[in-house]
Amino acid sequence: MSIKQVGGVSVHQQHQASCHCGAVQLLLELPHGIVNPRRCDCSLCRRKGAIVASVALDGIRILAGQAQLTLYQFNTHTAKHYFCSVCGIYTHHQRRSKPDEYGFNVACLEGINPYLLPEVALLDGINHPADRLAPSD
Ligand SMILES: [Zn+2]
Repeated sequence: MSIKQVGGVSVHQQHQASCHCGAVQLLLELPHGIVNPRRCDCSLCRRKGAIVASVALDGIRILAGQAQLTLYQFNTHTAKHYFCSVCGIYTHHQRRSKPDEYGFNVACLEGINPYLLPEVALLDGINHPADRLAPSD
């Protein structure tokens, strides 16, 4: 699923995103709009509650705040979860199940209200596909 408009606001091909305090500024390449928005019920996401969509690995440019971005890893330490060290807002992460793309926090997109997304899937993150394939990882 790919969404080009949310509540009458267009998703730009290059859309700016930021954390809450504004220290971290990202430019996202979203040629197909918001792709596959979802929530996940893994141990991290269920606490975070963010709606996540996908962007290519070379589709994120950090305009500001590289020094404020902090990395959090857990479990297999494959996925890389980035958040702003000042305001604590999760901005994006490199995925474990699909390392060739980032997930990003839809709520960080300038002007986009994530609660107006038409349909948000719930991923079965407790039973992560990588855990089923490589339980000893
Ligand atoms: Zn911040």
